[in-house]
Amino acid sequence: MPSRTPFSAPDAVSRPGAPGTRETMVGNDERFVLIGGGPAALSAARAYREAGGSGQVRILSADTEAPYFRPPLSKEFLRGDATDDDLPIESPEFYRDQRIDLSLRTEVTALDTEARTVTTSGGEVIDYTTCLLATGSEPARPPIPGADHPDVLTLRTAADSRRLREAADGVRSAVVVGAGFIGCEAAASLSRLGLQVTMICPEPFPQHARLGEDAGRELARWLKLEGVSVLTGTELLAIEDGTRIRTDLIPVLDVGFVLLATGVQPRVELAEKAGLDIGKGRVRTDEHLRASARGVFAAGDLAFAHNTAAARALKVEHWGEAEKMGGIAGRTAAGAPAAWDSVPGFWSTIGDRTLKYAAWGDGFDEARFIKHDNGFTVWYGRGGTTVGVLTHEADDDYERGSDLVERGAPLTEVVSVPAG
Ligand SMILES: Cc1cc2nc3c(=O)[nH]c(=O)nc-3n(C[C@H](O)[C@H](O)[C@H](O)COP(=O)(O)OP(=O)(O)OC[C@H]3O[C@@H](n4cnc5c(N)ncnc54)[C@H](O)[C@@H]3O)c2cc1C
Repeated sequence: MPSRTPFSAPDAVSRPGAPGTRETMVGNDERFVLIGGGPAALSAARAYREAGGSGQVRILSADTEAPYFRPPLSKEFLRGDATDDDLPIESPEFYRDQRIDLSLRTEVTALDTEARTVTTSGGEVIDYTTCLLATGSEPARPPIPGADHPDVLTLRTAADSRRLREAADGVRSAVVVGAGFIGCEAAASLSRLGLQVTMICPEPFPQHARLGEDAGRELARWLKLEGVSVLTGTELLAIEDGTRIRTDLIPVLDVGFVLLATGVQPRVELAEKAGLDIGKGRVRTDEHLRASARGVFAAGDLAFAHNTAAARALKVEHWGEAEKMGGIAGRTAAGAPAAWDSVPGFWSTIGDRTLKYAAWGDGFDEARFIKHDNGFTVWYGRGGTTVGVLTHEADDDYERGSDLVERGAPLTEVVSVPAG
């Protein structure tokens, strides 16, 4: 039988518990255990406290670093315009003052929703009354020969970004595979570091299916202006020895390194093994971010959460939404009213150009592109109803766009206000 140890007094950051130990609640009868060290988990812990939650709070994170900002990892941090000091979201004093016990290098390997325990890879068994799953996602590697070579890079963590920067030192060229936001941002940053960057893009334009042809053309133009060569309509076939790529159009391209930016997959194994309801490869939740087991919540990239404004469940992979969902889970856990009821959105910056997007994100059948003096707006519709807006230097459209999407305004009534 594992021995029971009292919950430690919260330091700013604690070490993983000893193997075979079991922590139980002492004093307060509420114990909020959060699995994950990203924005969803941190904002859940913060919101729980802000809403008056007085139980014990413990964040278990597999990462080696306290929760940090991920968006700069493909932008300022990768280019060296931001440093390690700019990354942490909160100071050590925050965790101490808020009585949030943060355990790093602590991977949770099992969730038992009957016994209400989680088990760590170190063998520690931790009781909870409320648990949040916020394990986020990880880079997906395409099923082609050589994609799992150790020299082939991906970008998710601060350590990945440092490694990428080191790889960029002393080489002249790189290939970025994939033209999603992380691929576009990283390609522009690497080009600004002086590398010859080639992007492999399977579609006719970057993000053609996701954002439409006109927005894709703009992205291709921006990448060109950033000095990135975009090989569109090109399929990656294999990577040899980590640095040579073969595509359907080019027999061999030999480069300094290869960055795979080929999408992400939610880390859902823990939830699956625990028997939680899964939808679209994610944890299904209600609008309060409650999963199917008592006392269990899920938030962020991992969640397939019901959005009351959309009247359906949505999957989103955006920083701000992870924070928002975490906040809703935290407030609900503290007994305060909260629901996911707004249109999801995100910003992306490629070089110096910023895109702002607010949309349900689950498809459109019409895209109306409107060019402004310095920017553009794309309005997205499905069945004649406005379902999204994408803007560059058109903040008026972005600001009213969320309302129009939320109201389901007819696309024909949407008139673009040119940016001043
Ligand atoms: C380079 C980069 C740039 C980005 N830029 C933008 C942007 O500009 N705008 C935008 O909207 N979005 C951006 N995103 C996406 C955004 O960062 C994610 O949507 C967001 O981080 C999701 O938050 P999360 O808390 O759900 O998960 P994550 O941030 O992925 O955090 C998951 C956490 O769980 C931990 N974990 C995983 N498994 C376990 C386990 N079993 N036990 C314990 N801990 C575990 C991980 O170590 C990690 O700490 C970017 C992402 C990347 C990688």
